[in-house]
Amino acid sequence: MLSQISPHVHILPFEEERDRPNLGYIHGEDYSMLIDAGNSPAHLKAMLGAISASDLPAPKAVLITHWHWDHTFAMHAFPGLTVAHEKTDSILGTLTEWEWTEEAMAERLRTGEECEFCDTHIKIEYGDIAEIRVVQADIVFDGSATFNLGGVTVEATPITNPHSDDGIVAFIREDRVLFAGDADTGDFYKLDGGYDSDRFHHYINEVDQIDYDTYVHGHLEPMSRAETSALRKQIEAEEL
Ligand SMILES: [Zn+2]
Repeated sequence: MLSQISPHVHILPFEEERDRPNLGYIHGEDYSMLIDAGNSPAHLKAMLGAISASDLPAPKAVLITHWHWDHTFAMHAFPGLTVAHEKTDSILGTLTEWEWTEEAMAERLRTGEECEFCDTHIKIEYGDIAEIRVVQADIVFDGSATFNLGGVTVEATPITNPHSDDGIVAFIREDRVLFAGDADTGDFYKLDGGYDSDRFHHYINEVDQIDYDTYVHGHLEPMSRAETSALRKQIEAEEL
């Protein structure tokens, strides 16, 4: 079920068991947009079903926060335009060549191309890994991009962060809501979930210049500004 967190913003809450992240729905007068596509066609279907059950218009576009499987593997099933930063799209391009067999997955774990946490959760989400399909975006931007949905604006900005090399944040200006992907989390691919201190400090300095009131991390409850500060203090104390 959708949860409305501001006048134009609803989310389908994250779920730990299948590693499904929060999906955002931004309700514009002219068109509506999703933030992240979901980890599988089933996840996306749950989102589209929840939107229709709330009598809201179907989204025409989806903006991707970063390339990780849980945010992108439903892109091929989205009945509209998919939008991603050039860096995200380029990494997705590499993933389109991955094979989805037990052997290929085991080999990627061995070489470090895939992380253990992702491998485990992909197998929980998908009954049949042969169904996995990765595609690149329909619309690719470099630098920043602004989407005028009618009465509400989505501003996509890349920020160097400790989680992935390609992350953008999406600021819903009128509602002062920020979707951050998983930017506060460590890097599961290169550092086994650990933090690069420089990237972490760069990120928190940059992101806090954005005038948000509500912060949506992919796998946590929406937070106030004070709560994000507390989270970062905790990360600094425990991880850096
Ligand atoms: Zn991620």
